[in-house]
Amino acid sequence: MDSKSLKAELAKFDLTELSGERFIIDLMYAGTRNVAGFAAYEEIGLGNRAFVHQQVFECLMKIVPILKHHNLKMCIRDAYRPPRAHILLQKKVAMPGLFAANYQLSNHCHGTAVDIFLTDENGKMLAYPTETDAYTDDIAQALRKGNFQPLQDNLLKARHNYMYAPYEALANRSFLKELMENNGFLAIPHEWWHYNLQGFEKYPVLETDLF
Ligand SMILES: [Zn+2]
Repeated sequence: MDSKSLKAELAKFDLTELSGERFIIDLMYAGTRNVAGFAAYEEIGLGNRAFVHQQVFECLMKIVPILKHHNLKMCIRDAYRPPRAHILLQKKVAMPGLFAANYQLSNHCHGTAVDIFLTDENGKMLAYPTETDAYTDDIAQALRKGNFQPLQDNLLKARHNYMYAPYEALANRSFLKELMENNGFLAIPHEWWHYNLQGFEKYPVLETDLF
């Protein structure tokens, strides 16, 4: 399907494509550097394109002038996740709890969640307590051998209440949380990079037959 028709099809589900000079689209599941070690979004035909629910889009647009003012950009690591991609990821990473057992439970499948971090003007990630997804190459290697421990250890550092990271990393985490919560999003306690749209409960899972 060409780019224009995909956009038009997804618009029927209130999904809008996110782009613009303040956003860097680098979806972790569009490539292989992720906990699952395979490019789920390429496999289903979504690729590296960030679609979000129209309400999420509007909240993110309110943030654009603030990013501009601070000479920052927002890197999008995950946005709308088609249910089929979630099922593939969940099958591939058999770690209990890492991916919601049922795609209905993942707000990414509703188009109402984003995984993000902020970068400087040149796209360099600011300091944070962990990588997004608490992922590193070492951890991925251990996971492939069925060793979940290193990821589980790193996930403790991904929590908002983890206070042992360098001051700068903690300050950047707080700045991001305040920015998002002031503009229509909610943090979750266990992943500093994940934000849900406020009132996400009322939005249904979006099952397209495109993917
Ligand atoms: Zn997420």
